[in-house]
Amino acid sequence: MRYLYIVLVAWMMSTTSIAANMIELDGLSDDLALGQYVDSVRLTRDNLGLTDQIRAASFVAGEHNELNFGYTQKRVWLRLELSNSSNDDIERVLNIRYPLLDTVKLYKSTSQTPLFTLGRVYADKNDQAINIPAPYYIMPILLPANSLETYYLSVESDDSIAIPLYLTSQTSLVRQAFNYSVILSFYFGLVIANILFAFFMTVLLKDREQLYYSLFLLSNSFIFFAVLEGMPSTIFDAESLFVNRDIIAYVVSASIMFLTLFSASYLKLKKYDPRAYRLSKILAFIMFLSFVLCFILPYFYAITLSTFTSILVGCFYAAVASKYVQLGRPGGKSFILACGLGVTGALVYGMKVWNLVPVNFFTSYGWHIGTLFEAAIFSAMIAYRAAQDRKERLIYLHELNKKERDLRHTQECLLETESAAKADLELQVKQRTRDLSNVLAQLETENRSLAELSINDGLTKVRNRRYFNDIYPQMWSDAFTEQTPISIILLDIDHFKKVNDDYGHISGDHCLVKVASVMRQSVNHPLDVICRYGGEEFVIVLPDTTQQQAVVLAESMRKSIANTIISSSERAFRVTSSFGVGGIIPTEEIAPEDLIAQCDAALYTSKRNGRNRVTVADDIATSGKGVVGE
Ligand code: GH3
Ligand code: MG
Ligand code: MG
Repeated sequence: MRYLYIVLVAWMMSTTSIAANMIELDGLSDDLALGQYVDSVRLTRDNLGLTDQIRAASFVAGEHNELNFGYTQKRVWLRLELSNSSNDDIERVLNIRYPLLDTVKLYKSTSQTPLFTLGRVYADKNDQAINIPAPYYIMPILLPANSLETYYLSVESDDSIAIPLYLTSQTSLVRQAFNYSVILSFYFGLVIANILFAFFMTVLLKDREQLYYSLFLLSNSFIFFAVLEGMPSTIFDAESLFVNRDIIAYVVSASIMFLTLFSASYLKLKKYDPRAYRLSKILAFIMFLSFVLCFILPYFYAITLSTFTSILVGCFYAAVASKYVQLGRPGGKSFILACGLGVTGALVYGMKVWNLVPVNFFTSYGWHIGTLFEAAIFSAMIAYRAAQDRKERLIYLHELNKKERDLRHTQECLLETESAAKADLELQVKQRTRDLSNVLAQLETENRSLAELSINDGLTKVRNRRYFNDIYPQMWSDAFTEQTPISIILLDIDHFKKVNDDYGHISGDHCLVKVASVMRQSVNHPLDVICRYGGEEFVIVLPDTTQQQAVVLAESMRKSIANTIISSSERAFRVTSSFGVGGIIPTEEIAPEDLIAQCDAALYTSKRNGRNRVTVADDIATSGKGVVGE
C-alpha cells in the first residue's frame, strides 16, 4: 500500500505542473492556514465546472500567497494538494473565514461537478454555513489512508475577494467558531450600548448632530459590521442576496453621508471654516447620490462607487482635521484620534486580509476594536461637550439673571429719579406759573395805571389835555351825526398866582385838587368829561347839553367853588373862578376848535369884566359882559 502511494506521488509530480506545496495530513496541526500551500489563477467567470482547460491553466504558486485578490470580476481558482500517508482515513474541515464571497465551489480533481457549492448567492442552499455560529464557508473532506487528492476551489465575488483558507479539525473548528461568536457578541453588545446612548442623547438634546452620529453608529458600527460578519444568514437565516450582500453598498454610502454631516457639525465647520463647510455639504450630497445610485447600479459598481466616494470624504476630513490640529481649533485632536483609530482598525483589517501582518486576535479584530474606540471617543466627547454646554449655559443664565437684576435695579433708580425730577419740575413749574401770573397781574395793574396816567391828570385826577384832544373831536362828530347839542365850559381860577404866592405851592396844588373835586361833584351826567386844560384852567365837555343848560351848570359850579373853603397847613381861604361857556348843534360850517375859541374868548371876557363870573359865548359880541357872580 505504501509503495503504491509513493509511486502515485512520483507519477503525479511527473504529470502535473509543479504544486506549491503538498500538504501532509498525517501529524498535521489542528488548525492550519493554507495560504502558502495553494496555487492560484484568475480566469474568466463561467458556469462550467472543473474543465480540462482549468486543469491545464497555468496556476501560479506563491504569487497570491496572501490569498487576496481585491475587487475582481474574474473567477479565482485555487489548487490544493493533500496527501495522507498514514494508514487511517483522516477527516478535516476546509474552511474560509471571510463571509463576503458570492460563490465558493470545491471540486475534486476527478470530477467536473462541485463537491460543495457555497457562498452568498447560495445562502438558501447552504446548510453547512449555518451549522456553526460563524460566517465560515465550511467544507468537510475525508482523505482515505495512503492517498493523494488534488482539490480545486473556485471563488467569485463582487466584493473584494479574500480567501483566508484553513484546514481545521472538527473540534478546533467548533472552538474557533465559539471564540468568534464570543468576541462578536462582545463587540455588538458594546456597539448596541453606544447606539442606545447616542439615540438617548439625541432625544435628550434634540440635537441634529446627535442624530447624525446615532445614524452613523447604526449604519456603520452595527449594520455594516453585521453584514460584514455574514450575520444575516448565520444569525437571522436570511437568504436574500440583498441583505447578505447588496445592502453593504447602501450602508457604506449612507454611513459616510451621516459621518460627513456629523463631522461638519462636530468640527463646527460653519463657524471655523465656511469654505470647508460648503464642501462638506457637497460631499454629503455626493454620498447621498451614491446611495441613490445603489438602487440602479449592479452591486460591483455600487460598492466600487461607495468605496471611492468614502475615500474622498476620508481624505477631505483628514485634511480638514489636520488643519484644525495645526491651528489649535477645538475638536481637531479628538476627531483625528477617533477617526484615526477607526481608519487604523480598517487598515489593520485590510493588512490582515492582504496577509501583510500575521493573523492574530488584534489583526483579526482590529477594525472592530478601532470602531469601538472611535465610537467610545465620540460618545465621551459628545457627553463631555453636552456637560460643558450645560455648564456654560448655566453660567450664561446666571450672568443673564444678574444682568437682568442689575437692569431692573437701574430701571427702578431711574424711575425714582424720574418721579423726583418730575415732582421737582412740577413744583418749579407751579412756582414759575405763580411768579408769572404775579408778574402778569402786576404788569396789568401797571399797564392799567399807565393807561390811566396817560389819560388822567396826576394831581387832580380829572382827564388831561391829551385825553381832551382825543375825545373832543369824537364827541363833536357824534353830536354832528346825531344833530344833538354839545357845550363847552372853560374855567380859570382867579388870581391863582397870588394863592401860590400867599399860601405856597403845596396849598396851590391842594386848591387845584379841591376845585376839581367840586367840579366833579357838580357834573352828574356820566358822559360829561372834565379835563385839566392847563395850569389852573379846566375844560368841561357836555354832550347832549344845550348852551343854556351849560350856563346853569357853570353858574352852579362857580357858586360852589366860591363857597368852598380850602384849608391847608392850618390856613383856610377861598378862591373864585371865571367861566367861558358855549354850546351849539354842530354844522358843517363850524369846526370844533371854533367853539373852544369862542369859549376862550368868553372866559377872557369874564376875566376882563372882573372875574368870578360866567360869560356865554353868544354874549361876547353883544354884551361884552358875562354873567356876574354873587
Ligand atoms: P388871573 O386871575 O388873571 O387868571 O390871574 P392869575 O394869577 O390866576 O393868572 P396867571 O396866569 O398870571 O397865573 C397863573 C399861575 O398859576 C401861575 C402859576 O404859577 C400857577 N400855576 C400854574 N399851574 C400850577 C400848579 O399846578 N400848581 C400851583 N401851585 N400853581 C400853578
Ligand atoms: Mg390862567
Ligand atoms: Mg387864573
